Amino acid sequence: MDLGIKGKRALVCASSKGLGRGCAEALAEAGVDLVLNARGAEALEATAAHIRDTYGVSVTAITADITDEAARADVIAGACAIDILVTNAGGPPPGLWSDWTRDDFIKALDANMLTPIALMKHYMPQMMEKSWGRVVNITSQSVKAPIPQLGLSNSARAGLTGYVAGTARQVAAKGVIINNLLPGIHATDRADALDKGVAEREGISVEEARTRRFGTLPVGRYGTAQEFGATCAFLCSQHVGFMVGQNVLLDGGQNAITI
Ligand code: NAP
Repeated sequence: MDLGIKGKRALVCASSKGLGRGCAEALAEAGVDLVLNARGAEALEATAAHIRDTYGVSVTAITADITDEAARADVIAGACAIDILVTNAGGPPPGLWSDWTRDDFIKALDANMLTPIALMKHYMPQMMEKSWGRVVNITSQSVKAPIPQLGLSNSARAGLTGYVAGTARQVAAKGVIINNLLPGIHATDRADALDKGVAEREGISVEEARTRRFGTLPVGRYGTAQEFGATCAFLCSQHVGFMVGQNVLLDGGQNAITI
């Protein structure tokens, strides 16, 4: 399918690895020029070079912590005008309800709610001016089924989801389409780290921990960044003009509660 976005320009946040990188590669495959971002320069430059060489699109790499206001201003200055925005950042740490201080909540809200909102508020006027724009926010399956130990993430992502629900409907008539993409368990560094943690705690091999977790997924495996990226590219395409403010769950069937 031709996604109809060749020659558009996208900012994909937190995209040197993992799900952000999957989104960046799928957009590049569709002919979209990219602005990539991450905190670590080495992996970011390597990803940028790979995408340039593989897909022949223009790639600008901006090293910055996207959740920091001053650093985010540098990303915005370096990115110039864009047509497509994919918001993303690392998720907050797990814990117990009694662990978290006000500062912990503020940090989580800054990273996973207020940063994507700030980016949308910055870019939507220029998208409306052109009568065309696409925004995809990478959130989490926890939006549909909150995960007990991820209270910080649950709280911040619920706030973003609420903001998008209203905003998407306020800008759709201007050609700006906003949707959220909700990952379940995907094979990224984060999944590896979780499997290693379980293996160490329970004295089993990483492979055994992974196989056990595969068993919690009806599809019998983790999702891939490629699958995730392909869905993201579709949500950024010409074909989603009638799809407004949706929370698209990619979870291998794990959350049976969603019908
Ligand atoms: P990840 O492995 O933690 O992050 C990968 C990328 O994000 C790297 O390029 C990393 O580069 C960059 N990054 C992280 N924090 C950043 C920041 N503050 N500013 C700029 N770049 C940043 O995450 P992932 O597994 O791809 O997941 C992406 C999002 O989906 C996260 O919010 C995660 O919580 C959520 N999620 C993931 C899963 C899953 O199974 N993978 C499931 C549910 C939800 P640097 O470290 O160099 O900055």
